[in-house]
Amino acid sequence: MSDSPGFPDSPDLQERAAALDSADGLAKHRELFALDDEGVYLDGNSLGALPRHVPGRMADVITRQWGEMRIRSWDESGWWTAPERIGDRIAPLVGAAAGQVVAGDSTSVNVFKAVVGAVRLAPESRDEVLVDASTFPTDGYIAESAARMTGRRVVPVAPADLAAALGPRTAVALVNHVDYRTGRLQDLPGLTAAAHAAGALTVWDLCHSAGALPVGLDAHGVDFAVGCTYKYLNGGPGAPAYLYVAARHQAAFDSPLPGWHSHVDPFGMTPGYAPADGAARGRVGTPDILSMLALEAALDVWEGVAVEDVREKSLALTDFFLECVDRYVPEGLVTSVTPVPHHERGSQVSLRCEGGAEGADAGEVMRELVARGVVGDFRRPDVLRFGFTPLYVGFADAERAARVLGRVLRRTTGADLGEAQA
Ligand SMILES: *Cc1c(COP(=O)(O)O)cnc(C)c1O
Repeated sequence: MSDSPGFPDSPDLQERAAALDSADGLAKHRELFALDDEGVYLDGNSLGALPRHVPGRMADVITRQWGEMRIRSWDESGWWTAPERIGDRIAPLVGAAAGQVVAGDSTSVNVFKAVVGAVRLAPESRDEVLVDASTFPTDGYIAESAARMTGRRVVPVAPADLAAALGPRTAVALVNHVDYRTGRLQDLPGLTAAAHAAGALTVWDLCHSAGALPVGLDAHGVDFAVGCTYKYLNGGPGAPAYLYVAARHQAAFDSPLPGWHSHVDPFGMTPGYAPADGAARGRVGTPDILSMLALEAALDVWEGVAVEDVREKSLALTDFFLECVDRYVPEGLVTSVTPVPHHERGSQVSLRCEGGAEGADAGEVMRELVARGVVGDFRRPDVLRFGFTPLYVGFADAERAARVLGRVLRRTTGADLGEAQA
């Protein structure tokens, strides 16, 4: 029951949610995750939920592989080859053929490898590194240092102006596929083609797209890509990231972090460096095996899942959530900063709290939501983020989140009856 006569619960929305959930072919995947039915988890774009089978697999990794087999596990349990093996499990999710993705290190470190590696493929006359001006900060910080080390300079460019900014001085364009704050999806095929037409290379950051929508790295001729695995890929906190180097660039890829694990003969222990061929060239040193194998186990939930189906459900979920917000939230309290057209939308909805000092404080609103079991997150100064992870979020979750949001906003802004005069 609603606590405000002006905004009753909408049985029609709840009925539609139930119908959409029962027609949803991906709904059965929810039980693969350690989620209870008490709350609504809409923060999988920050930390994906735990697949239920991972703790059991990790118990085996720790007690048997490490505890009993010890050093033998590097060979006999496949620890040594895990980065390429897991890279090949991620590859189909981002539209890459095998042999081009390697798992390891953080996204930040892989941004460094990719940007320096790409700049080293460009002639000296190309002295600019274009960086998505709205980028997740770490990419910008790393690109700045990478540019400084390679004698280039960073030019921040709003994604909408990137195509026009590409030119004979561009070495590389580093772009976030989906904007972490607004959820805007950038035109990966178009910008990659424009970069190539200008003689430049691309580095795409897939942190907010991999596992949520088809990426098509090979199909669109992307040069380099990086991404994390703890968001939509559910790999766990601090799970290893990955690096994609297109097959055509692998032989020339000159990694700025040539550790012994990327050596052609690591156990030759030679003083001189000779790089391995293929994806292994993107490795650095000893990988974080426990996190790596937790990620490998977590990837099992993608068995038999088509990313196209995930995308279809993601768009339906975000459409439905926006419709519910429209119905449950009094006008003028929030505005979506997530694009409406499907080809410009990732898998999250970001709502800006409106009204300046008179309006709701977004941080406070999110605390209230979390206290009521609806977990999204807050990005300063005024954005509420709701991530929709199609493998475990359903339509009833979307309806409930919007309904609770409406109540919290009416309370905190005094838009509720009676409270208006207080
Ligand atoms: C989440 C995210 C990162 C995180 O980088 P880490 O090195 O894993 O901390 C980087 N870039 C983007 C675009 C992200 O969304």
